[in-house]
Amino acid sequence: MPDSENRGLAARLEAIRAQLPPSCRLLAVSKGHPAAAIRAAVAAGQRSFGESRLQEAMAKQDALADLGPLDWHFIGRLQANKARGVLRRFGTIHSLDSVALAQRLARIAAEEERSPAVLFQVKFRPDPAKTGFEPEALRARWQELSALPALRPVGLMTIAPMGLEAAERRALFQECAALAAELGLPERSMGMSGDWPEAVTAGSTWVRLGSSLFGDRPSQNLAIPDVGRYSG
Ligand SMILES: *Cc1c(COP(=O)(O)O)cnc(C)c1O
Repeated sequence: MPDSENRGLAARLEAIRAQLPPSCRLLAVSKGHPAAAIRAAVAAGQRSFGESRLQEAMAKQDALADLGPLDWHFIGRLQANKARGVLRRFGTIHSLDSVALAQRLARIAAEEERSPAVLFQVKFRPDPAKTGFEPEALRARWQELSALPALRPVGLMTIAPMGLEAAERRALFQECAALAAELGLPERSMGMSGDWPEAVTAGSTWVRLGSSLFGDRPSQNLAIPDVGRYSG
């Protein structure tokens, strides 16, 4: 990256960090952006990165091996056949969206002797574009889910559907925070580039920011569906 772009990224990181309360951390969503962008963010003090596709993430992780361990979070739709790879490469998974996936992850995590931090993805409004637990379904299966071996349930993740007003988004994020409290989970992964201020107001502990840090994702990276506003 040219120096001027690196300085812009460093300034954006600093400006956003300055607006986050101490209880909220910044996950830099680097999907769709090259390893060089991550390298520049690391130089500016960022250690936690979000990726949503295993193959893409692995190539970047390998290219950045000289930086030592970074804090990798998987935030995309997790296909069953990618579970093992994701467990090997990511310490935190934000997108645990079904009982079947949770059971599979628990089994493979035990085999791999890993104990990933997991966040359950919850859908608080009908949204055909997104996966996730309905709040009632999560409550109904919670005893079983929270007792699965190897997984460390730490929180909930949610994505606000497009087209909501700011006040509606705030209400949705507050519902997510309330459900996390009810289940005894400390982490609330809420807020993206377009809505993170409302999520922070509602008690987010991880904002997941991509385009507001790194700029728009190049369009060829949108070809493969993933979780989020830019899916498909
Ligand atoms: C892509 C993505 C983000 C980041 O989106 P921006 O709007 O670019 O900040 C956050 N969370 C999830 C789950 C995503 O897929």
